[in-house]
Amino acid sequence: NNGVHVQNGVNGHHDDSNPKVNGVHNSEYIEADFTERYTVYSQDEQKYENVLKQHKITTEKRVPKLGVMLVGLGGNNGSTLVAGVLANKQGLSWETKNGTQQANFFGSFTQSATAHVGFKIDEKSGSLADVHKPVKEILPMVNPCDFEITGWDISQMNLYEAARRSKVLEPDLLRQLKAQLENIKPLPAALNQDYIASNQADRADNILTGTNQEIVNKLREDIQQMKRRTDKVIILWTANTEQYYLPEIATVDDLADKIKNNDPLPASVLYCIAAIEEQVIYLNGSPQNTFHPGVVEYARQNGGLLAGSDFKSGQTRFKTMMSDFLIGAGLRLSSVVSYNHLGNNDGKNLSEDKCFQSKKISKGGVLDDAIASNSILYPDGHASIDHEVVIKYVPFVGDSKRALDEYTSQIFMGGTNTISSYNICEDSLLAVPIMIDMLVLGELLTRIKIDGNGLGPVLSYLSFFFKAPITNHSEYVVNSFSRQRHTLINFLKAAAGISPDDQTLIGFGY
Ligand code: NAD
Repeated sequence: NNGVHVQNGVNGHHDDSNPKVNGVHNSEYIEADFTERYTVYSQDEQKYENVLKQHKITTEKRVPKLGVMLVGLGGNNGSTLVAGVLANKQGLSWETKNGTQQANFFGSFTQSATAHVGFKIDEKSGSLADVHKPVKEILPMVNPCDFEITGWDISQMNLYEAARRSKVLEPDLLRQLKAQLENIKPLPAALNQDYIASNQADRADNILTGTNQEIVNKLREDIQQMKRRTDKVIILWTANTEQYYLPEIATVDDLADKIKNNDPLPASVLYCIAAIEEQVIYLNGSPQNTFHPGVVEYARQNGGLLAGSDFKSGQTRFKTMMSDFLIGAGLRLSSVVSYNHLGNNDGKNLSEDKCFQSKKISKGGVLDDAIASNSILYPDGHASIDHEVVIKYVPFVGDSKRALDEYTSQIFMGGTNTISSYNICEDSLLAVPIMIDMLVLGELLTRIKIDGNGLGPVLSYLSFFFKAPITNHSEYVVNSFSRQRHTLINFLKAAAGISPDDQTLIGFGY
């Protein structure tokens, strides 16, 4: 049989009526025994030890009714997410100049990607084949069509007008959704105008007033309203990129003082505090430094859950794949130069330097782990690579963002290898499926316990979706596209009672 020995042929079968060895199902939980294997080195890396650790991973099976609250509901991403979910829920199709288009979730990892979950062996011929499963089928997950969505925006425009303003979706689709979208109006928002570009002032007609504490209280009331209508709530910041707030809020006391003394804080900090106090997840889709040490500690103390920052949708995703490919192949990537131009409101906001600086920082660190992984090519660390990022606002191109990248590597015997890429993408149509993923998976992570403990305060398994991921180990961040994807998939598989791939293929006589 090709050297294949299947130990306990029923492992991983998910059949409620017939509990199995791994991934045992009962009516409420999936319980998986998982043996984690890794190698630990001494500080001088001269000695190592292989570690085997037993874990019990428990996943609550009941999928809740999920309430999604978007900060920036009326923006390009916000309005596209609402219209996209409604269109999918109703199975709509619409006319375009290229023919009829059907609603889909392309670009969503949970809804449209598959994962390698194992192998099957033909009993007669002994031939070997892969088994892939849709990611959404590995564990019970919320269906995005069932999201209940509301949110805040500094612009009071209803979502039909907001979607038209965004110029992302086709008119024939928006016409079909007109009545529903017109009914959705953003809640009044927290805003500190000093932290976003001054060119945003003309859309700010829907603002909460009051002290820091009063505004946090009002945001909490909005969240409580949503809690009454749903089982669980997640807040997702998809509003304008804010300027960095410095110096960082170092401690919980520092944070409390700033709230009490009514120090001018960026709005994102107030939303995040409200989320932590309501014990709902707060996801940060923009680059600003909302997750100050004092804020993360406050979340730890209050059972808050955080993940971010800055959606990793286009250029950065590509960059972390290119560095996997080049550095992983032993080529010395020596210069990475990225130009972007875009004409949507995000681009307008980023045209002011204080906001662009936040984006530059977030895009700047994405190669660090790839460089640190190879001391042959980079004995001096990341200082030895040139990495530049330029972003320009060009209104005419609207949401259709252009990203021009040049990757130059030093190759064998002093040669040079230059790869240029030119990416034209509709920015919000790449970002929205990722937003859907972080909502679906963020919710799932709240139902998972490892050895009896919940995850958090940082939901690091969502790193795959963020440009500048934060983790529960501030010194340890993975940016590599392939590693992030493996980590997430292997974690989901382990929770489902399916063995993560060790990729050796030894047992199959490969
Ligand atoms: P957008 O400007 O169209 O939308 C932002 C919305 O937020 C606007 O409607 C604005 O009125 C609102 N807003 C601003 N401040 C607010 C506040 N304090 N409270 C509530 N609402 C507020 O931008 P977008 O294209 O939808 O992108 C949203 C964010 O996502 C940006 O910060 C952008 O940098 C980030 N991002 C987007 C992508 C992508 O689209 N591919 C990728 C990475 C990050």
